[in-house]
Amino acid sequence: MIKIENLHASIDGQPILKGINLEVKPGEVHAIMGPNGSGKSTLASVLAGREEYEITEGSVTFEGKDLLDLGAEDRAREGIFLAFQYPVEIPGVSNINFLKTAINEIRKYRGEEPIPAKDFLKLVKEKSALVELDNSLASRSVNEGFSGGEKKRNEIFQMAMLEPKLSILDETDSGLDIDALRIVANGVNKLKSADNASIVITHYQRLLDYIVPDFVHVLYNGKIIKSGPKELALELEEKGYDWLKKDQVIEA
Ligand code: ADP
Ligand code: MG
Ligand code: MG
Repeated sequence: MIKIENLHASIDGQPILKGINLEVKPGEVHAIMGPNGSGKSTLASVLAGREEYEITEGSVTFEGKDLLDLGAEDRAREGIFLAFQYPVEIPGVSNINFLKTAINEIRKYRGEEPIPAKDFLKLVKEKSALVELDNSLASRSVNEGFSGGEKKRNEIFQMAMLEPKLSILDETDSGLDIDALRIVANGVNKLKSADNASIVITHYQRLLDYIVPDFVHVLYNGKIIKSGPKELALELEEKGYDWLKKDQVIEA
């Protein structure tokens, strides 16, 4: 689905990503962990097409297309969803209308007709139940007056509605109480299918008690310095990142 090769990115001339290699296949969940400042959010932003980063080397192929050639909106239309892409409050625009517009933009991009009202309402009902989102939240203005937990849940609802091929969740666990964490994780787990994939970025192992990744990667100083099965997350929880940092120093 997505293949990242030797990706280097800078901001203000400062290198942040220093040669990322990662391949994600349909049906897979990859966790990216790593200490603060290692470049996790930068990677998410670069994949989503945020413009403040300069790609200095490498390539990203998404479903056979050169992703770096596409603007952020087209990447979303191609099926990449970055949680926190839509965290802003949009007073006066209901969540529902916002999503209807977004869905129809994607359909238009794919040469499809707008979604029939009946199908849309069915989708809202189905997906809001999936993420246990209160119906009143679905019809309120986008994120306006939502609590932190409600915003996170709403993001998962947006993700469910847009049915992305690749979801990137950046620190979706931060600021979540245990119930909200469980609901977000359940939503992600229920949305998992053989056709879609997720990259779950997290600083802590806690989220991975609920979302079980197929692979865990450690990002440190702009590089993936270790990859392994889900057990690697437990090892990191136990030992912290220091034992890996030591390896990194020797390597450097
Ligand atoms: P993480 O998500 O792993 O905590 P980030 O990707 O947020 O790491 O940051 C990686 C490094 O890039 C940090 O040193 C951070 O200060 C720097 N950085 C990220 N975004 C910006 C920015 N917009 N301007 C300047 N430096 C940035
Ligand atoms: Mg950070
Ligand atoms: Mg971050």
